[in-house]
Amino acid sequence: MSFNLATMLYESARSHPDKAAVINGKHALTYAQVDAAADRFAAGLHSHGIEPGDSVGLQLPNLPQFVIAYFGALKAGAVVVPMNVLYKADEVAYILRDAEARMLITWAGVLEQATEGATQAGVKDVVTVTTPGLPEPTTGTSFDALLATELDATEMYQSDPGDTAVIIYTSGTTGRPKGAELTHFQLFLNADTPGRLFGVRDSDVILVVLPLFHIFALSSILDVCVRFAATMTLVPRFDAAAVLATIERDHVTVFEGVPTMYIALLAHPDLDKYDVSSLRVGISGGAPIPATVLDDFEKRFGILILEGYGLSETASTTTFNVSAQDRRVYSVGRPIWGVQVQVWGDDGAVLPAGAENIGELMVRGVNVMRGYRGNPEASAEAFTRGWFHTGDLGYMDQDGYFFVVDRKKELIIRGGYNVYPREVEDAIYTHPAVAQAAVIGVADERLGQEVKAVVALHPGKEVAPEELIDHVKARLAPYKYPRSVEIRAHLPVTSAGKILKREL
Ligand code: AMP
Repeated sequence: MSFNLATMLYESARSHPDKAAVINGKHALTYAQVDAAADRFAAGLHSHGIEPGDSVGLQLPNLPQFVIAYFGALKAGAVVVPMNVLYKADEVAYILRDAEARMLITWAGVLEQATEGATQAGVKDVVTVTTPGLPEPTTGTSFDALLATELDATEMYQSDPGDTAVIIYTSGTTGRPKGAELTHFQLFLNADTPGRLFGVRDSDVILVVLPLFHIFALSSILDVCVRFAATMTLVPRFDAAAVLATIERDHVTVFEGVPTMYIALLAHPDLDKYDVSSLRVGISGGAPIPATVLDDFEKRFGILILEGYGLSETASTTTFNVSAQDRRVYSVGRPIWGVQVQVWGDDGAVLPAGAENIGELMVRGVNVMRGYRGNPEASAEAFTRGWFHTGDLGYMDQDGYFFVVDRKKELIIRGGYNVYPREVEDAIYTHPAVAQAAVIGVADERLGQEVKAVVALHPGKEVAPEELIDHVKARLAPYKYPRSVEIRAHLPVTSAGKILKREL
């Protein structure tokens, strides 16, 4: 059998040639245009000696060229390695080497670090996208030159559905980043199933502010959009005003974001000035959404937020809350089609349903990666009896809905009692002055670990640490509330908008 993930683009271009596929500010490209550009890009890759199975680094911000390069590389049979634009030269080099990449497609805005990384890794072919205001690079190949390649009846390469399409490097909270290998079939399924679940249709306009190089945006936004011939509108980086203005301008119907984004949108002082009535649904994932944020957002925007859960290793979605009738508020939903999730105790025994039975969430099914690229040891460690270790703690209720309690490694053990930071953070977020909260364990001689909160406040708000401590003390058992609160201007976040606890 043969199949290529880029079939999604080809089919949408056939069924909706004149439909806007990508909006970037004032410009839009139709499905026919994106598909034709991806064909030319694939031909350009061939002319640069890229063969089926070769890896290609793709380090671009949210630009239409990302979409063209992604599908173009897939059409050529290449393996796409999405890379963060914030990577320094050493990180670029590490990933290019690890993935044995033959080419780097990058952006003029980060050219110095990118080319230095490529040189270190011995990758000679650097293709650069330039955007207004940035100088034309003097070395390498320009993206436009590659796109200008004459088409000689190149055909979309027909892969085996089980071939690797994408290698996605995970944030790697421990050790070096590892490249999760995801196949054409897995990524197709992860676009098709969740997309059908929240009813994506060709009339939808989906806002893309999450970085496309992260699995959430790559699979659950870009692939979903293209699968259903919806329109995506790109926002280069998160800024609440820019997002609200784009929702109004393009009549956005679906917003997908991480919790920090929902918090910032809700707190925007000029929220009332924007018309956001086109929105029909919000999708949240990537990190736990605090209960108060979910409630307030739904009330204020008049839409439902459907929460999902997943990882890079599971091609994005693992569980999802399907619809108004089916969703369980504060839960991450039920496993999607073809996926099983179990809760395991420390001894590897499967725990029964119930909020008291917290254990590690284990996943098995069509969406789970083949393994980590070139790393049999890490791959073996990631699985037990064929089940993938998510490293997340959670439980299942009687109806099969899952709840993520926290990451295993972020669990705080205070004097023998388990404190789940997420629960404490949820309590802190109920204070109206709080914009960001992270609860961490700090070393304590007597108790082993003590609970500490690091908090950032909404602009113009003031609150004393003692007041926040009392606020949580009134809401949680005595062993859980933070004994110290540090207030900072901002908390560090990843480019996907998740709070970076290990840097606190
Ligand atoms: P990444 O591989 O960067 O996508 O990160 C995956 C991790 O994000 C998971 O292991 C979880 O810890 C976290 N995560 C994703 N979705 C959720 C969610 N809905 N609730 C809580 N944590 C989540």
